[in-house]
Parts: sequence; C-alpha cells; structure tokens
Amino acid sequence: MSFYPICAEYNDAPLAEQFGSVTEHDVRRAINKTKLNPKDFLALLSPAAIPFLEEMAQKANQLTLQNFGKTIQLFTPLYMANFCTNRCIYCGFNTKNKIPRTQLGPEELETEAKAIAETGLKHLLILTGDARTKSSPEYVESAVKILSRYFPSVSIEIYAMTEEEYARQVEAGVDGMTMFQETYNEELYPELHPAGPKRDYRFRLDAPERACKAGMRVVNIGALLGLDEWRHDALKTGIHAAYLQDKYPDVDIAVSLPRIRTHVGDAFVPRSLVSDISLTQNMLALRLFLPRCGITISTREAPEFRENILPLGVTRMSAGVSTEVGGHTKTDEKVGQFDISDGRSVEEMSQVLRKHGYQPVFKDWHSLKEAS
Ligand code: SF4
Repeated sequence: MSFYPICAEYNDAPLAEQFGSVTEHDVRRAINKTKLNPKDFLALLSPAAIPFLEEMAQKANQLTLQNFGKTIQLFTPLYMANFCTNRCIYCGFNTKNKIPRTQLGPEELETEAKAIAETGLKHLLILTGDARTKSSPEYVESAVKILSRYFPSVSIEIYAMTEEEYARQVEAGVDGMTMFQETYNEELYPELHPAGPKRDYRFRLDAPERACKAGMRVVNIGALLGLDEWRHDALKTGIHAAYLQDKYPDVDIAVSLPRIRTHVGDAFVPRSLVSDISLTQNMLALRLFLPRCGITISTREAPEFRENILPLGVTRMSAGVSTEVGGHTKTDEKVGQFDISDGRSVEEMSQVLRKHGYQPVFKDWHSLKEAS
C-alpha cells in the first residue's frame, strides 16, 4: 500500500464541485468537531469557510498552544550545489537557465557551517539541486558528516531517493527530509516537469513514505502553492500528511506552505493566485485537521505577513536565508533558486519572535548516538 491510490482517487474526484457545494452548516460542524475527517478538512478549505476565518483562527491558536506552546523552531537552508538535470519550469535552477553552476567542496562547506553556527542555529536544511551524478548520495553523506559537527539536526531537501539510500543518509547523521510534491495533480505534473528524472511522479510521491520506513525522524512535505488550483493541492497535501501520520506515528510529519516566487529565467505564470487570505485559510484548515502537525512558513513570505500569522499555527520558520550556493559566506555575484521576501538575520528574527511573546527554539533535538 502506498499513498498513490488514495491520491489517485482525489485526482479523479470532481473537486471543484465538491468545494463549491460545501454549506455554512458543513463548515460550522467541522469547526466544532474534535477530530476532523477529510470531508471536514475539505469544508474548511472551501470558499464557504471564508466568513469563518476568525473562528477558525481562534481554534487554530488554541490547538497550536496546546501542542507546541509559544515556540517557533528556527532553521536555515544551506545550498551546497545548484547543478540540476531537471527542467521544472517554475525554478531558477532549471537546466535550461544558463547560470553559473557550482558545488561546495569540504573546506567551503566547513566555512559555511561555521558562519551559520555562529548565528546560534542548530537546525540545518541542506539542498543540492537534482543532479545525482554531481551531487551523489556519497557526496551528501560526506557533507553531512562535516555538518553534523556543527549542527545536531541536519535535514536534506534533495532528489528523491530509494529507501536504502535514505537509510544510508540516516546512518550518516541526517535526521529529517523535505520533499515537495510540487503539485499532486498527476495530469498537470508532466507539463511542469518537461524533462529530467523528476518527471517520475510516483517515485517522488512515494519518497516521503520511503524516508519514514528508512528511519527519518522528521518528514516534511508540501505542494508549491499556485502550480494547480491551490485548494486542490492544499487538500491532497493534508490528506498525504494524515496518511503518513497514521501509518508512521513515531515520525514527526510536518507540512510547508510555500508560494511561488519570482526567479531568473522565463517568467512562470501560476495557474492560481494564492492570496494572503488563501494561504491563511490553508494554514488554519490544516491546523484544525492535524493539530500536532508541524507547519513551516519560509522567507518566501514577507516580514509583516510572517508576523501576522504567527499565532495561527506556524511552528517552524527559516531565518538568515540565502538561496545561493555558498550564500552565507561567499560575496561574489551569484544566482539564487528564487527571490526571498524576508531577509532578516537570525538575531533579528529572534528579537521579533520574543517581541510577539514567542520563544525562538534553536535546538530541540540531540542524537543519543552522537552523544555516546
Ligand atoms: S525545483 Fe529542484 S529539481 Fe526542479 S529545476 Fe529547481 S532545483 Fe532542479
């Protein structure tokens, strides 16, 4: 059993009609329930729920406080390479874009690690682009061994791997993985991914489950909101997270809510525009559906918006971000994967969180294996 047949059912369902037929009564019932089912989740994501956002916000706030307290875990990405063999038409690293391509060697990695560690961060997310031969599993493993000296938690956001490869990464010190399906719409997927190994929709869809089986502690999923009708992808992402939570209760299943950003290369026109209100509705519905699910809001979002939605379900935020390879230390001109909206440093973000009554969490994990 995998998530694929469940997702296929949603792909075949008349979702536009289902969203359109939700009533005020359905929304009220979903808000008042303690344990929501997928139909309730759909109701909360529907246009009929928009007049109830305030009520949903109050409940989301209460559930988040119950499950996470007033804490926000901080992390930053480290781009180790930007070689890529894919042509995702919404991404600046796509192989058609003639940008300088590079990869960090061991010494450069160590320099980046030291610079990030000086900010106090303990959670690191490493990214490589999708080029198996350039950024091989062995390259990632040796990088993790260096980075683990500075960070008790290292997560990967790289190409989809086999279960055995994930297990090797866990053995090397990786404790989390992020895998965005980009869109769950199987028909649209090949249009957005015209060439490269990422075209394999199902191999990518099953990657988070393979990571769970391989022993990852945290598995973070998401859709790039705007590629398809946002409500459709938001629904399938939540259902995917619920599937993983039920099947792998010992794994911390989390969801990111990224919206499309501008990038170098041909401009990409999203299929649906995801407004601030839509993103907020997505987060509130997700929190009510999955009260203990981590929710990440990255620096794709503007400072003011990130602060406004703090009490509504967020549990993780990035800070001190660069989407360029070696962007934490190198000063030469580089091209990032996408443009960020919130360029605040770790210190600035920490101050902002404290000002709002939140505790910035730098470290919530220490491997006993490492301590022995
Ligand atoms: S989204 Fe990832 S796989 Fe696709 S082009 Fe960008 S870096 Fe490559």
